Amino acid sequence: MELNPFEIAKKQIDIVAKEIGLDPNITKYLKRVERALIVSIPIIMDDGSLQIFEGYRVQHSTVRGPGKGGIRYSPEVNLDEVKALATWMTWKCSLLKLPLGGAKGGVNVDPRKLSRKELERLTRRYTTGIINMIGPDIDVPAPDMNTNAQIMSWIMDTYSMNKGRSVPGVVTGKPIEIGGSVGRNSATGMGLYFVIDAMCEKLKSNLDSQTIVIQGFGNVGGWIASLLYERGCKILAVSDISGGLYYSEGLQIDKLLDWTREGKYLKDYDDNRYRLITNSELLTTECDVLIPAALENQITKENANNINCKIILEGANGPTTPEADRILFQKGIHVIPDILANAGGVCVSYFEYVQDIRAYFWDLDRINKELKRILIEAFEDVYKVYKERKISLRTAAYIIAVSRIAKAFDLRGIFP
Ligand code: NAD
Repeated sequence: MELNPFEIAKKQIDIVAKEIGLDPNITKYLKRVERALIVSIPIIMDDGSLQIFEGYRVQHSTVRGPGKGGIRYSPEVNLDEVKALATWMTWKCSLLKLPLGGAKGGVNVDPRKLSRKELERLTRRYTTGIINMIGPDIDVPAPDMNTNAQIMSWIMDTYSMNKGRSVPGVVTGKPIEIGGSVGRNSATGMGLYFVIDAMCEKLKSNLDSQTIVIQGFGNVGGWIASLLYERGCKILAVSDISGGLYYSEGLQIDKLLDWTREGKYLKDYDDNRYRLITNSELLTTECDVLIPAALENQITKENANNINCKIILEGANGPTTPEADRILFQKGIHVIPDILANAGGVCVSYFEYVQDIRAYFWDLDRINKELKRILIEAFEDVYKVYKERKISLRTAAYIIAVSRIAKAFDLRGIFP
């Protein structure tokens, strides 16, 4: 129960509903998803055998605009996880005032066990399965765990072939050559960087002198590691699915990124100054800023008491459970919630979508300037409510995001 992400998402709605006295009818509505589709994905494998995978697409709320949310390929994906991730996307888009709703998708598959051709067939068949549920005016997918620009290209192509014309606005996170945006790859890491910088300023501490620990060394973890490393922060530990590396003097992040970009695991990196640690050791390592950037449910009531940092910057979606949140709040640890901290990804996805629709592309300077403006505005909104009400940053962010959705429901009314 504690670890079912959709139960957690519903619990978070209850916490906010109580805090702001939300209309019980709206509370009831927000705890349901608008649409959920399960598709079977039959694939002829390279050896001629048939395997059937299960895929999902969920729209939690489109009350403020078309759905927006990534697609995840993982053997752990299930409907409740996708529902939770779609719900969190609703809050994220609302918090940033983007005219988009919350959606998410996933396929229950371990993509590392598939050849490139199998992965392409899986992606094209999954896209065909959900084709009536996506589109620039309906719901716009993007990359998430274990999906990337190549997979977005196959989705865009499959959708376009079915429509008989090129429709770049159907997905974001595409390569630049087919309508992608500059700055999308780095966007989530860049967003985390702007937010932690702003938080350090509020706490009157200097970002350069912070010690950092990062779980996950993929798109999000890798980018934030690189940005903080360049800024001069000491990155004490990083991890991937294979385990983590620790060095009290600070890891050489540029070298580790070169290593993992070749598809190699951190645990196999050879440097005798570095100590191998497990992912659970990593989470309780003493540092100033802990950045969970891998997956959900990493900080739970089991390890929350042993977390030894000043700030948790949530790069992943849902890395902290509500029980852990309560403990961390009592311990005085500032948790910068996912819906604010990692919202850089959806923000630049929104820019990509706007650029595709207008067929006019921006430069990196404009992307990063607009990203910073939107994120810092959201950060200041959250910080103000947090100070006024003396609540957690998460509850403050939820109050803003949920209130906007509730207002939209109220204005539109319930059809018919
Ligand atoms: P990714 O696939 O690029 O990287 C995931 C990283 O986590 C890898 O280093 C992987 O080895 C590691 N990992 C996987 N399972 C693990 C485990 N059990 N223990 C420890 N490490 C593990 O994915 P990503 O795009 O970086 O996404 C990471 C998280 O950030 C997810 O929660 C995702 O929803 C969230 N997120 C991503 C974006 C984005 O733009 N990519 C935006 C917002 C939020």
